Amino acid sequence: MSIDFAARFQTVLDRIRAAERQFQRPPGSVELLAVSKTHPASAVAALAALGQRHFGENYLQEALDKITELAALDLEWHFIGPIQTNKTRGIAERFAWAHSVDRLKIAERLNAQRPDDLPPLNVCLEVNIDREPSKHGFGEDDLADAARTVAALPRLRLRGLMVIPAPSADFAAQRLPFARLRQWAERLNIEGLDTLSMGMSDDLEAAIAEGATLVRIGTALFGPRA
Ligand SMILES: *Cc1c(COP(=O)(O)O)cnc(C)c1O
Repeated sequence: MSIDFAARFQTVLDRIRAAERQFQRPPGSVELLAVSKTHPASAVAALAALGQRHFGENYLQEALDKITELAALDLEWHFIGPIQTNKTRGIAERFAWAHSVDRLKIAERLNAQRPDDLPPLNVCLEVNIDREPSKHGFGEDDLADAARTVAALPRLRLRGLMVIPAPSADFAAQRLPFARLRQWAERLNIEGLDTLSMGMSDDLEAAIAEGATLVRIGTALFGPRA
């Protein structure tokens, strides 16, 4: 069965633009990151042909294969999955962004491994809003020190914060962790932070209501993952 990418893409763009209007966000202030994990390079190419430039991937080897296959297209690749230390070199060398930096050691390795002929790697610090021990990310206590350290690394550019909250079906409940992420970012008070990476297919409106500047959308664009 073929997927109607044009219709799905338009539906997602319409949802983003409608939420911008509804929550008094400036038009075009929310960027769409198309999360293509598990989907083939042909699906990325189909969305790229419709004008999408930013793509998010979770698994390094799968991503590197697509990046190589689609090198002729002018795309920006964002790494959004858990980062093991042995994956930092591939991310530093082949990606424009890493959203899921969840400990200092990872930031230091990305900084050391970012090639000199590329611009600094854009990074977000992942935070563990719900304080779930099973989850990745900085807690409120260690975030401020970590952010100042990362902001000083010359081959990285600290852009903001990222969160993956526990799913919730209720709109008011969805907004709470996103509001918290915005408050944590404001409290950091670091020059140049311009990114709140929050919101997925099922909660992008709540994220935009609370100030998301980039929503990470997979299922609504590409269909369910196997
Ligand atoms: C898979 C994934 C997404 C996309 O989720 P959907 O619900 O399919 O839109 C967004 N962010 C992260 C970190 C992911 O791993």
